[in-house]
Amino acid sequence: MRGMKYRRREVCLEGGVRLVMESALSARDRVGVQDFLLLENYNSEAAFIENLRRRYREGLIYTYIGSVLVSVNPYRELEIYSKQNMERHRGVNFYEISPHIRDQCILISGESGAGKTEASKKILQYYTHICPTRNNTQTIRERLLQSNPVLEAFGNAKTLRNDNSSRFGKYMDIQFDYKGAPIGGHILNYLLEKSRVAHQNHGERNFHIFYQLLEGGEEPLLKRLCLEKTTPQHHHYLVKGNCPRVSSISDKNGWKIVRNALSIIGFEEEEIQALMEIVASVLHLGNTQFGEDEEGETHVTTEPPVQFLSQLMGVDALVLKEALTHRKIVAKGEEMISPLSLEQALSARDSMAKAIYGRAFTWLVQKLNQSLAFKDEVYYSSKCSSVIGLLDIYGFEVFQHNSFEQFCINYCNEKLQQLFIELTLKSEQEEYEAEGIVWERVEYFNNKVICELVEEKHKGIIALLDEECLRRGDASDITFLEKLEDTLVGHAHFVTHKMANGKVRKAIGREEFRLLHYAGEVNYNVNGFLDKNNDLLYRHLKEVLCQSDNPVVSQCFHEEELMDQRRPESAVTQFKLSLAKLMDILMSKEPSYVRCIKPNDGKQPGRFDDVLVRHQVKYLGLLENLRVRRAGFAYRRNYEAFLERYKSLCPDTWPNWHGELADGVATLVKHLNFKPEEYKLGRSKIFIRFPRTLFMTEDALQAQ
Ligand code: ADP
Ligand code: MG
Repeated sequence: MRGMKYRRREVCLEGGVRLVMESALSARDRVGVQDFLLLENYNSEAAFIENLRRRYREGLIYTYIGSVLVSVNPYRELEIYSKQNMERHRGVNFYEISPHIRDQCILISGESGAGKTEASKKILQYYTHICPTRNNTQTIRERLLQSNPVLEAFGNAKTLRNDNSSRFGKYMDIQFDYKGAPIGGHILNYLLEKSRVAHQNHGERNFHIFYQLLEGGEEPLLKRLCLEKTTPQHHHYLVKGNCPRVSSISDKNGWKIVRNALSIIGFEEEEIQALMEIVASVLHLGNTQFGEDEEGETHVTTEPPVQFLSQLMGVDALVLKEALTHRKIVAKGEEMISPLSLEQALSARDSMAKAIYGRAFTWLVQKLNQSLAFKDEVYYSSKCSSVIGLLDIYGFEVFQHNSFEQFCINYCNEKLQQLFIELTLKSEQEEYEAEGIVWERVEYFNNKVICELVEEKHKGIIALLDEECLRRGDASDITFLEKLEDTLVGHAHFVTHKMANGKVRKAIGREEFRLLHYAGEVNYNVNGFLDKNNDLLYRHLKEVLCQSDNPVVSQCFHEEELMDQRRPESAVTQFKLSLAKLMDILMSKEPSYVRCIKPNDGKQPGRFDDVLVRHQVKYLGLLENLRVRRAGFAYRRNYEAFLERYKSLCPDTWPNWHGELADGVATLVKHLNFKPEEYKLGRSKIFIRFPRTLFMTEDALQAQ
């Protein structure tokens, strides 16, 4: 990571272009080129896809576009991640420049199932393996690595797109000391898809931990949790998707891994117990059913689950039943109790399950952070010299039925794409302009317009949703849809059934709106948008949870919250604000990109679906990315650094050049016989068009 060494013939160009010349040239026909910059016909989409296909066939899943790494999911274990292989990359510097001018971050993007999470794990493994060890850093390494299985157990689930789909976003900082040893870490988590706790679409599952506990939990533990001898089929919250088992997943084994990870991270036995009590409580809540008596009053019809719940939460069963079937309103200092309808009771129950699980997840991340925190403050301030951030977030997602969750996930992906555009396509072209370099502009689709459609003040979709959530009276999901139609009529990326007037290829339902995302069209059904955005938990249930003697629940629900009269921020606004903060963090760092591609929709190894890949290559803007790099210059370097490195190749610049730097560089390249079309001299930098020019110069240096 830090070394400045060069390997023979492996030239590390600024911006991270790393090319191995021989392998790229000799085996090109069979395995393609390992950097798209070497592709002869770089304007051709077909050539681009063909290169990816060839490499994929040979098990070569990684290809560069300059500093951007393109990865195609192999859907099989490759033997490239061995310790031996990691060693081979030790000291090979991705950048020629000193690596730590700015903290770095690695942004991993791609649609659901493209391989983001796996890539992030490989990167973490690499860093924890390759970096030097200092006293105590062994523990931090282990904890960093073990945080993944814990977060995945609670935050990942089987979906139709991916058997291990991340249902939350994660940004992890790894902190290094001045010698490059990892000394700490910090995780920021983003919007967990809580609705999954109470409902799953057909073919999908709840979060892994539920199945792991039931399949792998030890007898005495299950007995304590009142779950003995039950299988997923016995639990309402686990059968909605009609998919209790997944062939690629061993829940039993998963349990062992999670249990072990929790211990390594340093969770106390009581904390693990409390956490599992929460998992079990959610299941018992799901099994709690309601009925209506003759007077139309709602009551609980299933006694055992409520008893279990009362036992695990340490709350009186009668109090619990009352809270599940009645609503308490405090107005002008007076409490009023009113009964809930059957439907309201079911929804209150689900809200309670979601709230407990969601907050327990946040608690879990806080605990992980405490355990990863670098403890020695004094040491930290003087010795922590760098940070590498890793972003692994839910990928762009389209289902038959898309709801509030997909809306949030896809909005998040728009933001990341926008960042990519800002930092690569846009900034690259602006640099040429700033340096006064003449060149042909590359056109690309800027998705800023879609980001604004979603998040603009007052008239963006988020603002309109919040407005409708605040409005009393007849506000409903449908009035929200109508409001969207009124405000966004004529917008190029927004359509509804009414607006389309039958003029769209794929039908839009009457309760849907369609967004034309950068990655494709998605129809969102507005059903549930208001409720999910309000994310309300009845006061009555909050009170009950505040009384709980479960140590985790009592840390998650505080009395103060009940006193606070202010309306909490809506779910989507919280998400928007946290994403904006994330963008600021990412903007402040030196980014590297991994663009993940999904080769087929069947999760199958070896199958390369042209249409699917082409679509992703297109919307990820990879060809534009390549064009900008190629039409431009593969390599650029400020005059001083360039002269410093190569001055020994020319008698006029060696050992020191005393004139203007630009003149020194001009003298040097003239001596080296650079052709005019090979380079350009800007205001402060030299730009070299082709990698081979630099290879030759570098070779001359090595031959000295
Ligand atoms: P994403 O996070 O982009 O939704 P994942 O990283 O979870 O996707 O990948 C989905 C699945 O694809 C993984 O569970 C694994 O089976 C397979 N996979 C992804 N990347 C790799 C890889 N580098 N090697 C082997 N299998 C992979
Ligand atoms: Mg993932």
